[in-house]
Amino acid sequence: GFAILNGNIIDRSEAKVDVEDRGYQFGDGVYEVIRVYNGKMFTGAEHLERFGKSSDSIGISLPYRTEELLALLEELIEKNNLQLGIIYMQLTRGVSPRNHAFPIEKVAPVLTAYTKEFARPDESMKKGVPAILTEDIRWLRCDIKSLNLLGNLLAKQKAAEAGCFEAIQHRGENVTEGSSSNIYIVKNGVVITHESNNLILKGITKDVILELCLENNIPVEERTFTLEELANADEVFLSSTTSEVMPIVEIDDKKVTEGQPGPVTKKLQKLFQLEIENQCGK
Ligand code: PLP
Repeated sequence: GFAILNGNIIDRSEAKVDVEDRGYQFGDGVYEVIRVYNGKMFTGAEHLERFGKSSDSIGISLPYRTEELLALLEELIEKNNLQLGIIYMQLTRGVSPRNHAFPIEKVAPVLTAYTKEFARPDESMKKGVPAILTEDIRWLRCDIKSLNLLGNLLAKQKAAEAGCFEAIQHRGENVTEGSSSNIYIVKNGVVITHESNNLILKGITKDVILELCLENNIPVEERTFTLEELANADEVFLSSTTSEVMPIVEIDDKKVTEGQPGPVTKKLQKLFQLEIENQCGK
């Protein structure tokens, strides 16, 4: 297959970075994961906008215009003959002698991207998945889609060891987000999810879901909610680029919604499916 290294599409086996790339040494960079359905990017422009915001927020300027980057990614999809999968894309501050402070001399950022075939999680979406709770030990800029993911990795590993799909993180009494997803509860027909501030990543899937709620008269409250509200919720679900709208049917071995996906979650899954078809075709 092919990969992008800076502005060029080259053979994947030739896409190599230096041992002193700051992304490799410090996690000094940002990334995106973009869904591809029917060979077309879903919410591609939104992902690129967030990519630009993340990189701006750590002082790396994206060396491509959005249209250039979109065209490059489209070419990559085509060359790799990708129908159903993802694009992984990252930008680091570049290669420079190891030093915590940013390089004084101008260093070219390093952009890499590649594609991967990735099926939709149909079975899990139908049945729902189990989750665990874990304290959110991450830093206070979770709004940046940074390569520094150790807190997220430790949380996900805990979930994996418990045989669960996701770890729901909380700061004290307040639920923040999953290790790689946003978390929602439904109570009396109202969808509640953490406001997009510095404590969570503003999911592109979350934006789509909130827009679908708005268009379909499903009431939404974007606000902090507590562990107690989570425990008393009628329904719980998560969202992400790869998990779409995913019902959570068990938390720490306690069943949610009698262990079945709830009606609002199922409705949102249907609306999300239509949105995929709108953007990427059937
Ligand atoms: N929160 C975190 C910590 C994530 O890593 C992700 C990405 O998968 C999300 C939320 C969901 O974001 P998106 O819907 O843009 O994939």
